[in-house]
Amino acid sequence: MDNQNRTPILEVKDLCKHFRINKKATLKAVDGVSFNIFEGETVGLVGESGCGKSTTGKCLVRLYEPTSGEVIYKGKDITKLKGEEKKAFCKDVQMIFQNPYSSLNPRMTVKEIVGEGIKVHNPGISDKELEEKVLGLLEKVGLNKDHMSRFSHEFSGGQRQRIGIARALAVDPKFIVCDEPISALDVSIQAQVLNMLKELQKEFGLTYLFVAHDLSVVKFISDRVIVMYLGTIVEYADAEELYANPMHPYTKVLLSSIPEADPDIAKNSQRLTVKGEIPSPINPKPCCRFAERCPNATEECFKTMPELKDLGNGHMIACHLYK
Ligand code: SF4
Repeated sequence: MDNQNRTPILEVKDLCKHFRINKKATLKAVDGVSFNIFEGETVGLVGESGCGKSTTGKCLVRLYEPTSGEVIYKGKDITKLKGEEKKAFCKDVQMIFQNPYSSLNPRMTVKEIVGEGIKVHNPGISDKELEEKVLGLLEKVGLNKDHMSRFSHEFSGGQRQRIGIARALAVDPKFIVCDEPISALDVSIQAQVLNMLKELQKEFGLTYLFVAHDLSVVKFISDRVIVMYLGTIVEYADAEELYANPMHPYTKVLLSSIPEADPDIAKNSQRLTVKGEIPSPINPKPCCRFAERCPNATEECFKTMPELKDLGNGHMIACHLYK
């Protein structure tokens, strides 16, 4: 169905998350980000380390309180939820963490880790029912009954991430923020976990925000893709459109760095580079954040911040090159 005729499950409006460092310095990790997510889709959020993508994800699950802006989930501002509404939100919205080594409590068995959320939301559940539910979840993520009484240190990285996914699924969520869920895993098992996430999405009707720095991973899993640079969105489009027709100078650089498997295409494709490192997000200048590194920068780029504009077809871009 056309997204224009649908109501988003999540709307992010002018979201800012700033960290005050001292009287003169503020780190603007997320600075005026707006986007929406529709039920059942996967939106990829990509950019280099330090661009604010994980901070954005953490604001959506209330691990961080936004400095300003709104996060609307099913029509309600999540920062204003109280009582039963807040409880329902905490059940609906879950996160899968980047590091499967530090995100699981080493003193708890797998049954306790996966069962914890189930017990919170179903206080009257019997031990037998709990065990059945935990086992069902473990089987969904490729683990089995023998794993229930073990501790997280007894598992490989891939298995730990499977436990983390089972924990997220335990409370029947609707929306999951996947924060670089495969970046800490061996390349050999990354594809398995990605495929599993896709299958679980289909089976449970899940909606994902998929945070990653690897554009080939995002291409594989996403319906739409948002590209972030230094706390702001620079481009936002359907995945197919973005990969076929990248427009922002920064997106072009990111895409040209994806290795090409076909040697004939690789021979003819040009690898773009940019000068320098990503600048500090502390007290950023009020101009295009990419200006210092952009090969196309003009005087205007150093004076004013480009707004995110829709070029048609939902392809949004923040760049003075596109009027
Ligand atoms: Fe480059 Fe200017 Fe566009 Fe920024 S606004 S990306 S500096 S051309």
